Amino acid sequence: MLRSVFLAAADSSRLGRLVSSATLSKNAARRFVAGDDVADALRAARELADDGLAITVDHLAPETSTAEQAKAVRDEYTELLGRLASAGLTPAAEVSVKLSALGQRIDDKLAFEYALAVCAAAADAGTSVTLDAEDHTTTDSTLEILAGLRKDYPSTGAVLQAYLRRTEGDCRELATTGSRVRLCKGAYSEPESVAFQDPLDIDKSFVRCLNILMSGEGYPMVATHDARLIAIAEDRARWFDRSAEEYEFQMLYGMRTEEQARLAAGGNIVRVYLPYGEQWYGYLMRRLAERPSSVSLFGRALVPG
Ligand code: FAD
Repeated sequence: MLRSVFLAAADSSRLGRLVSSATLSKNAARRFVAGDDVADALRAARELADDGLAITVDHLAPETSTAEQAKAVRDEYTELLGRLASAGLTPAAEVSVKLSALGQRIDDKLAFEYALAVCAAAADAGTSVTLDAEDHTTTDSTLEILAGLRKDYPSTGAVLQAYLRRTEGDCRELATTGSRVRLCKGAYSEPESVAFQDPLDIDKSFVRCLNILMSGEGYPMVATHDARLIAIAEDRARWFDRSAEEYEFQMLYGMRTEEQARLAAGGNIVRVYLPYGEQWYGYLMRRLAERPSSVSLFGRALVPG
């Protein structure tokens, strides 16, 4: 119930404008978002790198409805990648990109062209790009664009969502040499026709997908805060003889930081998903949808005025 309230709030631009303008809510968001601009992202990335963590930086862009906005997102990422390299933060830091922000809903050829430019900037910076997964209507287009990008930039990463019924098949397709696949549960509100709804069914799907990725030839990136799934991933890595360099864990900035440190101290690669940008409101609502108990953290701060 609370999950759907927060997911609806994430899509409400009116509420977003109201909440985003309140200084208090901005301060509360800081725990989960690096800040508004590239300088904030660099500062937070430096702190994470100093703690021995890898990073994937995500720019929280306004919703893209014109080609100009998509171009601005491309330019933001090329600037970000140049500055990450100048600051000596690559290859520890890579970037995560939403194709919708690069114009996928306007024209997927445009999104491909701009994503290619971001991949080129990442290659110049000595790092790579991962394409975030969005709602299920974009999955086919995203995987097609991924295949196109990987012809020139084979290290471009994919994200697969365990809640989608199709994902076991996608894991099989992508568990090949050189392929980087982030496996997560999935963060959107999806219909039963395409997605498991019961949390236990989603967890079981996650484990089936994990088995395929860990036994395959690619590089699995296990994105979860769920202690049980983390333990299963460690077990599968041992079972399939993967060394600590042959897979990684990923968690969101500000979430389970002690667990991030514990895994890193144990010799694991741990990559932190680090968002920055003025459009933090929708991102924050999705996190609250996943973990409504965090609402006490924001409680008063989310009420503007
Ligand atoms: P949950 O189902 O949220 O939690 C399960 C259990 O984990 C809880 O019961 C609790 O035991 C434990 N737990 C969780 N959080 C905490 C906490 N803060 N403190 C203590 N215990 C906790 N989704 C997409 O749709 N597309 C993407 O591209 C995408 N990229 C992602 C990238 C990363 C790095 C991560 C970590 C997630 C990403 N997600 C993405 C979001 C993902 O799909 C899930 O919605 C989100 O991670 C919540 O699921 P979970 O596996 O972490 O566990």
